[in-house]
Amino acid sequence: MTERTLYPELSIPQTLAAGPGPGNTDPRVLAAFANAGLADHMQADVLRGMIECKHMLRAIWGTRNVYTYGVAGTGWSGLDVMLNAVLPGDTVVAFANGTFSGIDALTIRMKAATREELRANPMDPQAASVTVITVPHGQSVTAEVIEAALKDKKPKWAFMAHWETGSGRINDLRAFSDACLRHGAMGLVDAVSSLGVDDFSIDDYPGVVGWASCPQKGILSLPLTYAPVSFTDRFIEEVRTNGCPSYVHHPILEARHWGIIDGQDVAAGTYHRTHSGYAVAAFHEALRINLQQGRTAKARDYAHHEQALRQAVTAMGCEVTSNMTSLVVLNLPKELAGREKELVQACRAKGFGIWPTLSEPVQVRIGILNQLSEAAITDIVQRFAEAMKAMGAKLDLDEISENLRQYYRITLAAE
Ligand SMILES: *Cc1c(COP(=O)(O)O)cnc(C)c1O
Repeated sequence: MTERTLYPELSIPQTLAAGPGPGNTDPRVLAAFANAGLADHMQADVLRGMIECKHMLRAIWGTRNVYTYGVAGTGWSGLDVMLNAVLPGDTVVAFANGTFSGIDALTIRMKAATREELRANPMDPQAASVTVITVPHGQSVTAEVIEAALKDKKPKWAFMAHWETGSGRINDLRAFSDACLRHGAMGLVDAVSSLGVDDFSIDDYPGVVGWASCPQKGILSLPLTYAPVSFTDRFIEEVRTNGCPSYVHHPILEARHWGIIDGQDVAAGTYHRTHSGYAVAAFHEALRINLQQGRTAKARDYAHHEQALRQAVTAMGCEVTSNMTSLVVLNLPKELAGREKELVQACRAKGFGIWPTLSEPVQVRIGILNQLSEAAITDIVQRFAEAMKAMGAKLDLDEISENLRQYYRITLAAE
């Protein structure tokens, strides 16, 4: 490649994103992104849009936390802002039950490590002040595990993923919040996969002081927008007292552009960094869609359609080990065991974007983000059945479709 090589324009095909995330972005979000005028980051409508986003986020997340706003980037960007409150030497108990909470625990070890601990193993430091409780893949973090660890360690911070997307498991948020209150720990939660899918309110979990989510899963705003975060006054007080070694990902400074200054809502934000009017418009539209659909109705729809998918793949001989409602994580039938990656590759080559698990054991993950209709679920089931059949599974495609039709007919009649 020389300086004068010119690649052809990059064209990325339409595919069906049927994995753990990202979800298929709503056309309204893409239109909002593309139709935003060339407005600078201090233009009045951009600033107003950011303030409206902040208020919509509080409604969607059920919170009166003033420090509720978006962090430019992806889920890890929001998590970084939250976990920046953890300083070298801080005591932390982190629960890990899959890929993502495992990376969260690594982030925590990096931030809590002393200089010596970081130098001893820079990419994977073992911080003596951090206890990572590893729960096996495919299992949830339970009340008993949480209570035992927090009672024993009485850490300053406790961390858990609400929904662990790597293994498709829901962890016990109620028990986590209660145990944090009981043992004087400040709870931090990775809510990347649950926001916009589950029906829950932050303010019902007072033991949790920090929350971080992402744009691309339940909120359905992939075109690089904002990772929602929310912090209680106690969290902010902690950061105000002890500081945070980051300018851009500082929980207090980052909030200024969203019109949050000294713990108060102000009429217009002040400069923190160059926000994109395109991203603000897209995020704004995504939040409007979430509010129009309604949190409770959306959560019910996810449960309803996940059940349809779960029943269909179970009837095909697969074993489902997840309990999230946006995602099914499954083992293939015995005769196809060991060929998970091959199956996933074959599907992806046809524009049907399902996923393997990213950590052992290898399982298949099929997601339904923004696929909440009988037609969409039927399409997913048929494509998956065809792929299994192509690998030698004996399946009756007509019977599978008929069973799905039955499921939707019966459940519709029951409503
Ligand atoms: C997807 C995910 C992340 C990472 O989000 P990115 O948008 O890829 O940065 C972190 N935690 C959980 C639980 C996730 O599901």
